[in-house]
This record gives sequence, structure tokens and C-alpha cells, in this order.
Amino acid sequence: MAEETVFSKIVAGEIPVEKLAETDRVIAFPDINPQAPVHILVIPKTSEYADVTALAAGDPELLAEMVAVAKQLAESHADGEYRLIFNNGAHAGQTVFHVHAHVLANIEQGKLVGF
Ligand code: 5GP
Repeated sequence: MAEETVFSKIVAGEIPVEKLAETDRVIAFPDINPQAPVHILVIPKTSEYADVTALAAGDPELLAEMVAVAKQLAESHADGEYRLIFNNGAHAGQTVFHVHAHVLANIEQGKLVGF
């Protein structure tokens, strides 16, 4: 069984979040520690995939659905343009091992945010 993470608890409703988007397989909510004016996390409901490498290999349609949700959020929360970040591995800054996309938008010109 996949390891329990803060995101599996969010999917289970054990940690409340403001849901900004939801499909049968994906949910999106604001990052608790935003690094840009718009900073939204898009996650699959399944805990099966720890990172985007595993997700791309195991369920590319689910990855495509996450990107489609990211685009919709960028349309509804910004001008439709967005930065999409997947951290892969602890040495790349990943802290939660339930695959998630960071959707960043309304970024000030010249300020490439990262974390
Ligand atoms: P990572 O560093 O793994 O790519 O990103 C994990 C992200 O999850 C961080 O940006 C962190 O702020 C966010 N995060 C961690 N715990 C919670 C939480 O309980 N609620 C929300 N909304 N975001 C969280």
C-alpha cells in the first residue's frame, strides 16, 4: 500500500482545504506556503505515484488530466499563462511523496520563483 502523506489525508478529507477544482481523479487547492501570487497544487486522488516520473510511466492520461486542470486554473485565476513545477526527489526539493504539480501564475516580470 502507498505510504500515507499529508496529501492522502487531504484527499481523504482528514485535512480541510479550499478545493479550487475537482474531477473524478484530481483535486486542486492553494499551497499553504505560496511562492507566487497564484500558487495552486494539483494532485491525483490516488496515492499510487510518488512523483511525476512514476506517474508518466504508469498513467500518462492522469498526468494529462492534471495538466488540463492546471490550465483551467490558470485561466480562472490569472491570464491563462502559468509555470508548472514538479519536484522529483528530496534532493530536488520534493517534500511530499504523492505526485503534485505546482501551478504558479501572476509572477512578477523577471522574478523566476522557485522553491
Ligand atoms: P514539494 O516541496 O514536495 O514539491 O511541495 C509540497 C508543497 O506542499 C509545499 O509547497 C508545501 O507548502 C505544501 N503543503 C505541505 N503541507 C500542506 C498542507 O497541509 N496544505 C496545503 N495546502 N499545502 C501543503
